[in-house]
Order: sequence, then structure tokens, then C-alpha cells
Amino acid sequence: MDKNKILIVGTVALDSVKTPFGERKGILGGSASFASTAASFFAKPHIVSIIGEDFPQEHLDFLDSCGIDLAGIEKKGKTFRWEGYYEFDMNEAKTLKTELNSLMDFSIDLPENYKDIGYVFVGNIDPSLQQEVIKSVRKPKLIVMDTMNFWITSKKKELLETIKQVNILLINDGEARMLFETTSLLKAANAALALGPSAVIIKKGEHGALLYTKDRHFSAPGYPLEEVRDPTGCGDTFGGAFIGYLAKTGDLSEKNLRKAIVYGSVMASYNAEDFSLDRLRTLTQKEIDSRYAKMKEIREF
Ligand code: AMP
Repeated sequence: MDKNKILIVGTVALDSVKTPFGERKGILGGSASFASTAASFFAKPHIVSIIGEDFPQEHLDFLDSCGIDLAGIEKKGKTFRWEGYYEFDMNEAKTLKTELNSLMDFSIDLPENYKDIGYVFVGNIDPSLQQEVIKSVRKPKLIVMDTMNFWITSKKKELLETIKQVNILLINDGEARMLFETTSLLKAANAALALGPSAVIIKKGEHGALLYTKDRHFSAPGYPLEEVRDPTGCGDTFGGAFIGYLAKTGDLSEKNLRKAIVYGSVMASYNAEDFSLDRLRTLTQKEIDSRYAKMKEIREF
């Protein structure tokens, strides 16, 4: 059977990352790369993004080998680059440099066959671009969004506007507090729900994720890892696996959102085991199933 399609907008980037376990320069990164690779385990992702003339062909070949449709990737100028580091508390990335490069000249022009895709992930990218994607799709069944501090600081008004147009908001704990100017995650989640989404998921790094809907609340643990080598892209990996599982099952009930969150946590835990997308390159369905089963055990009482 053909896999269900997902539309994913986000960055396809070259990252330079330093963690207590090593340093890598110019490696494959970007919110769309992580989200679509994770989603490809469940569904058929279609990326909308922009890269530069300097972007290595081998990275496109890798994404293609995952079954990801790349027709929506434009090539122009210089690739988006991000440079960051982590200290011993690896839950928070410290950004050293963000070079938007060709992202500044990017305007959304979706391939015609992308416009009818029902599952849409507006990943971490300029919120004005997120809105253009939302405007361009004809009959979305589900729109999930993600963001980060860079856009909260630089484009808060546009970001709040995007939140009004989506079904599910994904955001990490520090960014939820920053966006809604509160110390309470419950208050932040309620403020987000008041804008329109029917569910808000607050990601808490190694501590898992919280789901808030109008009258229910769920808490998923993080998978306990002894060694986190590089958490870059865990949020995007979580998001890609989350929407991937929902697209695969076609079930948007609250019960199934909980399962999708556990798949998100499982995939993010694998991603943290190595730099760039290296762990996802070798990941097998058997490994995913085994960690999913262990997550069930962890939260039983
Ligand atoms: P995460 O660790 O899930 O927050 O995502 C890290 C990825 O996001 C890296 O691979 C970066 O290339 C990418 N990234 C960093 N800053 C931004 C930004 N301002 N907008 C979009 N993507 C970004």
C-alpha cells in the first residue's frame, strides 16, 4: 500500500555543532531534514524548502534514499547555516550564529501535487513562510506547527498569527514560557489553546513531553539514555515522527495523539545518540518497536 503523504516545510541546513562529546562542522541539519527523515519511517514526506548552490549532493541523495519527495526544494545562493553548542545540560542549545542566507529570498511556490496533501507540518522556519504554506494547501486534514526562540524574538506577531491557523502547536518548555510570558506551563498551554489549536504539546527535552487539550492532559516520559551525544534536531525529529504516525494511522483521536507522542519521544531519543542524522541513517523498525514497548513499561504503575 502507498504510504500517506505529508507536506513538511522547514529548513534544510548545514550545521556546526559542539557538544561535550565532540565537534562537527558543516554537517547536514535543518528542521525539515530531521522532521522528514523521522516521518519517512511512517509516511511519505514532501519537503518544501530552499538550499544554496553550496549544498552537497550527497545529502540530497540521502534524503531521496529515505523515500522523501524533494521536488519542493529550491536551489539558490547560499545554504542556511546554524552554529550552536551544548553544555552539560544538553536540554538547551546555545546559538552562536544563524545565517539565513537564501532563506531571506524564499517565497513559497508549492508544486501543484503538493497542494492536495492532507497532513501538513509547518516546521521551524520564518512564521510568514509557515502562513504562506497554510494558505497554499487546499484541503488540510491536520496542520501541526513547531517553532523556536529565534522566531519568538524576531517575529512574535507573525508567530501568534500562525498559531491561530493550526490544529496542533509543538513548542519546547522554555520557549512556551518565553512566548506567553509566564513561568507556568499550564498557563502557557491554556494561552496557546485560547488562540485556536485543539492541542498543545510542550516538549521537555530529555524529560519527555506534555499534551494539553481543552479538558485532558497527558505526560509522556523521555526515554532514559545514558549517553546523549548531540540533541540537535530532537524537537524536529519528535515532530516528524508525531505527524508521521498520525498520517499513517489516519486517527486523530486523543488516544492516538498519545501514541504519536510516544513515537515522537522514541525517535527523538534515537536521534540524540549521534551527530546530525547519523543515528536515523541506521535505525530499524525493530529498534523503534522495541523502544516503544519499553516506554509502555516505564510509564506503568
Ligand atoms: P532542534 O534541535 O529540534 O531545535 O533543531 C535544530 C535544527 O534547527 C538545526 O539543524 C538547525 O539547522 C535548525 N535551525 C536552527 N535555527 C533555526 C531557525 N531560526 N529556523 C529554522 N531552523 C533552525
